[in-house]
Amino acid sequence: MRDSVIQSSRTGVNVLPRYSLVLPIYNEEQVLPQLIERISTLICRLDGDTEAIFVDDGSLDGSVEYLRKVVAAEPRFRLIELSRNFGHQVAITAGMDAAEGDAVIVMDTDLQDPPEVVLDLVAKWKEGFEIVYARRVKREGESWFKRITASLFYRLLERMTSVDIPRDVGDFRLVGRKALETFRHMPEHDCFVRGMFAWMGFKQTAVPFERPARTLGQTKYPFWKMMHLAVHGIISFSEKPLRLGLWGGLAISALAVVFGDYAVFAWIFESGVIAGWTSTVVIVSLLCGINLFMTGVVGLYVGSIHAEVKRRPLYVIDRLSGFDEAMSAVSGKSGGSYRKPRNGDPANVRTLRPL
Ligand code: UDP
Ligand code: MG
Repeated sequence: MRDSVIQSSRTGVNVLPRYSLVLPIYNEEQVLPQLIERISTLICRLDGDTEAIFVDDGSLDGSVEYLRKVVAAEPRFRLIELSRNFGHQVAITAGMDAAEGDAVIVMDTDLQDPPEVVLDLVAKWKEGFEIVYARRVKREGESWFKRITASLFYRLLERMTSVDIPRDVGDFRLVGRKALETFRHMPEHDCFVRGMFAWMGFKQTAVPFERPARTLGQTKYPFWKMMHLAVHGIISFSEKPLRLGLWGGLAISALAVVFGDYAVFAWIFESGVIAGWTSTVVIVSLLCGINLFMTGVVGLYVGSIHAEVKRRPLYVIDRLSGFDEAMSAVSGKSGGSYRKPRNGDPANVRTLRPL
């Protein structure tokens, strides 16, 4: 059981827990004033020191300018500005790489992940759970299409992957320090954050919440982006699509043998049999289709391997603000401050710090 005070491992002295909020932002200018207000209230209600790390994922609207002002005025706020739009999953990763808290909370910034739910996540963490995810029991204001595709995606993921990725759970979650350090030692490029946390084990639990509709701004996850996330989620946690080709190929070969036997039999014993145009076309197109499909599946895996072997940094930071000035002197970087990178910290592999 964690108490509201935790023991510092170095000094043995009881200290308050430290929390980090990781907040990915992509063109959220309209929501920001409300978000800052709700986050500030949340920080007051949390029983420890809290930092809020905003990660600007290459916003094109006025989000960055707004955030710079807010961060300059509030010492508990930090800002990481990525050099371009790297995508939601990478933005979250960048924030978690910088987080210093004993518990790190990741949440969307469009207020669809209500900040108040964080208090419930924290309560579970104090009961001893290392990872506490927020489960959507009701999704308001989303089109039937989004709800059906999301539901199909979670079920497909469950069937396809060997890892138990919880259903109806997005990236709204709290992770403890152990889970965070494990995450930092997973330098993969094909980031599917919720899968990575499901894979690592530890004591995990869910807190139910009702997901409100987005009231301001627009979704940044159009259909094709959702598909991209779904495909990458599956291929980074499952080899089943590859095996599908093996079994599918075997089944079709077996059918081909049966059909071939029949054709030979008919040719020997029945008169006037002409090789059927229809059957030829059906078989050829079926085999071509399956062949192309499987080449595509293999291509996805090869593409994924290609991304990993290039060993490019996962993201590039353009500018930092609000981070510890003393540390900035240690790391000796200009154009922003950053905590001193630890030796061997895989964050060094994943990041290009501001130049
Ligand atoms: N987001 C991001 N980078 C992107 C797309 C989205 O950082 O390329 C952020 C966005 O600002 C929001 C969160 O990710 O805080 C979830 O996005 P959104 O609300 O558009 O997704 P939805 O809830 O519609 O699935
Ligand atoms: Mg949203």
